[in-house]
Amino acid sequence: MVYRYNFNAGPGALPKEVLEEAQAELQSFQGMGASIMEISHRSKAYEAIHFEAQQLIRELMGLSQDYEVLFLHGGASLQFSMVPLNFLTEGKAAGYVHCGTWSGKAWQEAGKIGETRLLASGMETGFKQMPDLSRLPLSGDMAYVHLISNETIGGIQCHSFPDTGEVPLVVDMSSDIFSRPIDATPFSFIYAGAQKNLGPAGVTIAIVRRSLLECIPDTIPDILSYRIHAKHRSLYNTPPVFSIYMVNLVLKWIVKQGGVQGIGARNRQKADLLYNVLDNSGGFYEGLAYKDNRSIMNVTFRAHNPEIENRLLDELEQEGFLGLKGHRDAGHLRASIYNAVTYEQCKALSDFLIGFQRSNG
Ligand code: PMP
Repeated sequence: MVYRYNFNAGPGALPKEVLEEAQAELQSFQGMGASIMEISHRSKAYEAIHFEAQQLIRELMGLSQDYEVLFLHGGASLQFSMVPLNFLTEGKAAGYVHCGTWSGKAWQEAGKIGETRLLASGMETGFKQMPDLSRLPLSGDMAYVHLISNETIGGIQCHSFPDTGEVPLVVDMSSDIFSRPIDATPFSFIYAGAQKNLGPAGVTIAIVRRSLLECIPDTIPDILSYRIHAKHRSLYNTPPVFSIYMVNLVLKWIVKQGGVQGIGARNRQKADLLYNVLDNSGGFYEGLAYKDNRSIMNVTFRAHNPEIENRLLDELEQEGFLGLKGHRDAGHLRASIYNAVTYEQCKALSDFLIGFQRSNG
């Protein structure tokens, strides 16, 4: 199995330029004679990378001084527990929107820590559509509302966000962070595992509104407290230095692509290319998500019969189009077209799908 095209859902493709840059300085970072993995996280050289990455996140997202940017361990999954540990305080309830596997896990984990309320669910549509977010049943005793902006498995994405008023809005952006321009001001807490749009696995980005830090109980372990991580500028303990270094390079690459505006426009074109193939196939292919909630990051689809679908997957693999088998929860196919997947690579996939239909239709 040799990769010609990488459509993996995560860890996913990284920009070639970034890999080349990392390779060039792998053994001797900035001519120091040692790699970034081999020097102290308290050294000036490492700190410069660390703080620069935080600053780049601020700039790319247009964050005001009201927010702190954190680098955390434990993947996005740890955030399913850390969010309620930090914010779901005594006498409050946390509201969850259930729109697929990941939001279901987040909701389930929070239930182990405190009271949760299901505010909306996409279960009825088999998670093929985002539930209506415009009329969430909010109340004054809510610690926060938790949402996932892009459900990686089902391939559905929020194209607008709810106004939760005084109730803090928490969002998991693991699979679409920096994929399009987003106004951060409605959010009190954003988190994202790095391994889709930002770098290798091992670091999770969190963006937290400073005012929320004050309410975090002292009783939770320091390593799990956002306040402690913020106080130490994400150097409370040894951070995942290589992952953060890679995130730094990816962020600079995003800047070179025209920032989130430039990236967003290209991502739209890439997604349109593939969805057009599905929609113009006369039923040979079918997109799994409802049209108004289709994701620009994870294109989920199927072929009109299982035998053809298996043949398609085999031929794709033979041609080096890899990572297209759908998640075990959703089945079928999924093309993950994260920031580093180029328009040309999406074009190659769309041409392949059209050719396959011609030979098998
Ligand atoms: N949230 C979303 C939206 C995801 O796509 C994933 C992983 N694919 C996770 C959370 C879990 O991430 P991790 O493996 O980093 O814990």
